[in-house]
Amino acid sequence: MTTLADSATSSTDIQAVLDRAAGGGRISAEEALELYRHAPLHALGRAADAARRRRYAGTEHIATYIIERNINYTNVCVTACKFCAFYAAPKDTEKGWSRDLDEILRRCAETVELGGTQIMFQGGHHPDYGVEYYERAFSAIKKDFPQLVIHSLGASEVDHMARISGVSAEEAIRRIHAAGLDSFAGAGAELLPERPRKVIAPLKESGERWLEIMELAHNLGVESTSTMLMGTGETNAERIEHLRMIRDVQDRTGGFRAFIPYTYQPENNHLKGRTQATLFEYLRLIAVARLFLDNVAHIQGSWLTVGKEMGQLSLHYGADDLGSVMLEENVVSSAGAKHRSNRMELIALIRAAGRVPAQRATTYEHLVIHDDPANDPVDDHVFSHIASTAIEGGTAHPELKLLNADS
Ligand code: SF4
Repeated sequence: MTTLADSATSSTDIQAVLDRAAGGGRISAEEALELYRHAPLHALGRAADAARRRRYAGTEHIATYIIERNINYTNVCVTACKFCAFYAAPKDTEKGWSRDLDEILRRCAETVELGGTQIMFQGGHHPDYGVEYYERAFSAIKKDFPQLVIHSLGASEVDHMARISGVSAEEAIRRIHAAGLDSFAGAGAELLPERPRKVIAPLKESGERWLEIMELAHNLGVESTSTMLMGTGETNAERIEHLRMIRDVQDRTGGFRAFIPYTYQPENNHLKGRTQATLFEYLRLIAVARLFLDNVAHIQGSWLTVGKEMGQLSLHYGADDLGSVMLEENVVSSAGAKHRSNRMELIALIRAAGRVPAQRATTYEHLVIHDDPANDPVDDHVFSHIASTAIEGGTAHPELKLLNADS
């Protein structure tokens, strides 16, 4: 079979592929790679935006955000990924910490108080944390805060906790789902193809295993999002291969609600920032993801890692969601992500990008459509990073002591 990649690429070939994808036709991985490498930037964005508008006909004027809190329960981790600035090896007792259940519940209470609807439980692969740990935590959270959606963890944590508890991944998923986990956040995907994954996360499960566990979860009725870490030295072809691996599983399960690419942050980790994705590479990836992942509903722009203006631009390159007001974030912040925001600003950013902002639920229903600026929220307490170990002193917003942050 002759592919675009085999032949000299002409602008006519590229436009034909863009037109097909924009019109809802499926494109091959080879064509996606060709678009990623050679399509003119504006033409790529126009096609991705057309695909987004087509999918969301009737609500295409809306872009969404969510209010959530990452709860980092421990940084102790046996997996030592080379891009990670967050973890502490189990023997590093000075750097390692774990939050107790009372502290976790207090953070949930603050999330509810600030109008958050979702928590993302995120932490290291602690050598003692098996299925029982997560069952205890999730059932306690659901008992006290039934209104909070637990959108947390990913296949890596499942693989780890199942091994610690000596049970199958299927049993681990069933048990944490029964205890209160609503959906998986899809953490740990990093890069799924074997070569780059072995370079940056040699102790993590394989990409195939990550997908196998996600597929298992989808088949057990637990949906997820999917993620991608860009910029650690992977090739263009490996980026597209990551998308292909996700699309193939999605064809079978339909369980990935969204695709969320974000960029590697260079500080305080073993890779030392030797390679990084450029902002244009990020935009192109967002656009190609919208065109290639014709079976994934939502594409999220990551203002946290690429900045607010790039987040706005991503809304014109196929993204329909700008992620969250991250009430707390420690993982990519530890590696140097400096961007901060708040609910009022996210609303303003989305509006300035030409969209009507809407606060969404975990499952992407619109909770509040901000279609009249006169009715915008005026409170200024819904900040990102109200608490962050990446920030000296542990809190970016000491004024939030009024929420009993230190009690
Ligand atoms: S990315 Fe996760 S699994 Fe890897 S070292 Fe960091 S905390 Fe551990």
